[in-house]
Amino acid sequence: MITESQLHQLADICRQASDIEIMPRFRQLEDAHIEQKQNHNDLVTIADQAAEQFIMEKLHSLYPDALLIGEESVYADASALEKYSDAALSFVLDPIDGTWHYANGSVYFGVMLGIATFGEMIGGIILEPVTGDYLWAIKGKGAFDRIKGKDHPLRTGRHAARSLAETMGCFSFGVCKGHEREQALQAASKMGRIMDYRCAAAEYRLLLTGATSFVIFQNTLNLWDHGAGQLIAKEAGACSRMLNGEPYQPQIKGKLIVAESETRWEELAALFNSN
Ligand SMILES: [Mg+2]
Repeated sequence: MITESQLHQLADICRQASDIEIMPRFRQLEDAHIEQKQNHNDLVTIADQAAEQFIMEKLHSLYPDALLIGEESVYADASALEKYSDAALSFVLDPIDGTWHYANGSVYFGVMLGIATFGEMIGGIILEPVTGDYLWAIKGKGAFDRIKGKDHPLRTGRHAARSLAETMGCFSFGVCKGHEREQALQAASKMGRIMDYRCAAAEYRLLLTGATSFVIFQNTLNLWDHGAGQLIAKEAGACSRMLNGEPYQPQIKGKLIVAESETRWEELAALFNSN
């Protein structure tokens, strides 16, 4: 188990990385500092790499035996992921989630850190570098938004009594292609207002602080994009499962529906299962 003071020490390391490596470079990047990964919308910057290195070094000095899984290191060598279920303690890091936003000078990006034991998340942090606020949770102890150093409990369900057509949510329909795009647009037409941020950190924040009613993620669901968010969502009372009803698993592909209530989840799943 992880204690509250250990978790906030970890959040502080993320914030230092933000203060030293991320925010000073925000809107100051040169073209040479931005590289494409798989395509022109899939980016990595010098700040992603520097922040990951900064956080990993601090984690290693505090917890020398822990398994460290970082988005950028896995991109270079995926072998760390294979040890995830067997590691007594592992840290899963996305040094900048929403790199497209970061590289384009848009404020929707986050630092996400998950803490796991034998493949199960026991702690999660989603830091918003621009404000320094962060969502956090420890398994079994609830979820909170730490705003200017003060904790506010997170509890989903604020819009549960509204109809789907009256609610707002995030839906990664932009990644759907061909027939799937048609199906996605049909499903989207039954929803109220929808957004597609391309940033899990921002989309989990909107759902868990009660701004939105649901998030539907799509495609390869990387552990560093969802480990921390899934734990915080669960602790905040959200209902989260893959479209086929299975629980989220690292690197799984498909549609992950995270809803403010069970009823909302069922309602959303029915949209995709019926067409
Ligand atoms: Mg990233």
